[in-house]
Amino acid sequence: MRIIIGGMNHESNTLNPIITGEDDFVVFHGQEILEKGLLPYYSSTGIIEALREADCEIVPTVLARAVPNGVVSDEFYYRIKAEMLERIRAAVAAGPVDGICLALHGSMKVKGLGCAEGDILSAIRNILPEVPLTVALDMHATITDTMLACADGFVGYKTAPHVDCRETGALAASMLLRSIKEKRRLTTRARTVPMLIAGEKSESAAEPMKSLLNACRAAEKEQGVLAASLLLGFPWADDEHEAVTVLVTTLDDPRTADEVAARIAREFWRRRAEFDFRCEHYDSKTAMKVAFRAVLHEGMKPVFVSDSGDNPTAGSTGDSTELLECIVAEMTTVDKLPTPLLYSGFYDARATAACIAAGEGSSLDIEVGGTWDKVNGKRIPLSVKVLRIVRNYGPYNSDLVLVGHRNMVLVLTSKHIGFGDEELLPALGVDPRDYCLVVVKLGYLEACFSEIAAKAILATSKGCSNEVLESIPYRRIRRPMYPIDLEMAYEPD
Ligand SMILES: [Zn+2]
Repeated sequence: MRIIIGGMNHESNTLNPIITGEDDFVVFHGQEILEKGLLPYYSSTGIIEALREADCEIVPTVLARAVPNGVVSDEFYYRIKAEMLERIRAAVAAGPVDGICLALHGSMKVKGLGCAEGDILSAIRNILPEVPLTVALDMHATITDTMLACADGFVGYKTAPHVDCRETGALAASMLLRSIKEKRRLTTRARTVPMLIAGEKSESAAEPMKSLLNACRAAEKEQGVLAASLLLGFPWADDEHEAVTVLVTTLDDPRTADEVAARIAREFWRRRAEFDFRCEHYDSKTAMKVAFRAVLHEGMKPVFVSDSGDNPTAGSTGDSTELLECIVAEMTTVDKLPTPLLYSGFYDARATAACIAAGEGSSLDIEVGGTWDKVNGKRIPLSVKVLRIVRNYGPYNSDLVLVGHRNMVLVLTSKHIGFGDEELLPALGVDPRDYCLVVVKLGYLEACFSEIAAKAILATSKGCSNEVLESIPYRRIRRPMYPIDLEMAYEPD
């Protein structure tokens, strides 16, 4: 069998004014996907492994990924799209194509266009209208009618944090292969649940997501059901398609697909009020007060505070200063802490460049934050000492700088990268266990932090990934929408 593969992965936060462009993306072209592109946390890796196992001939097109951020540059998107379509046309010209399997996020938005996935899928359908096509999606995918009309089968991640990307890719590939081998169509049916859910209220290990995902897994064991997925949408995109969608793909059994989707949607809605934060959560000022008390009066170490309203891995800018301002206002308390307060970190290309120009060991005055988020961020002046510089860190080649200001050390980055990366602090020679208080621009703590945290506090801080959805001034989402409209009615049938 000859199968075309490719992918685009970006979660686009429309509240963030940054335009995600070429420099922010890692792109693999053609054969590179099968060589350098086999990263363990890519669903495309699972697709490739499953197709190789089945001895398929794989035709790689293009694979583009970036850290969640503001909407994607139209110029960049149309270039990547053109390359993908060109490679598909060349594949068609070279011989028969049996199927297409794509790794897409589902919530990628392009400047001036909107939903990227519907656009690319319909363009592919114009070239290959009849060839079976399946898609592996992120759990935070936003499903549109165009996407549903242009692909046969879908499957989304069943874990958050996402640790089943490969398995999801493998299932997308195996659905496709089964459809081709058995010469039976895949049929997908959807139910939309009018709900928005903050990421930190929908961890897969916690209820009600745990039971709802188990219901999907149980459904996948039913006769004819190949995939049952909960796609939660992305609440930090103000878009008319935002909602939770239940998608069920069967082997030519639309009735079962429809019944199962309605059943899971009904159960999702029934449990809507149970979605809640799983750890202590307070506004920024209170969160810092509780953290100081835990360190100074209860001797806890390390205490973690998530600056969740400005989480770059949820597409926020990484330069809101609302929480930093609360810390700076309490510097006399910070100075009493038994170790410095560690803050990881800020995306600030200007401050990072100034520190690199000054060099390790030098002291200088910088301003941090507020370049992009001008609503929740200000330029905060800090007199700092440059403690450590790392150039071209990680796949996105970000410079990293560690600076000290009184009894606080901050991480600054030249690129918009996530702060949940377990190798980032060690790269700067920092072990978070050495610090009594660690503030991190992140939502739920990644395992590298949660495993060592003596206490974890979620600050519902202000930024482009504000967890208090009820306070976001949405203009484009459909209404009524739970929990913005608490008293609304809904029936999935
Ligand atoms: Zn996601």
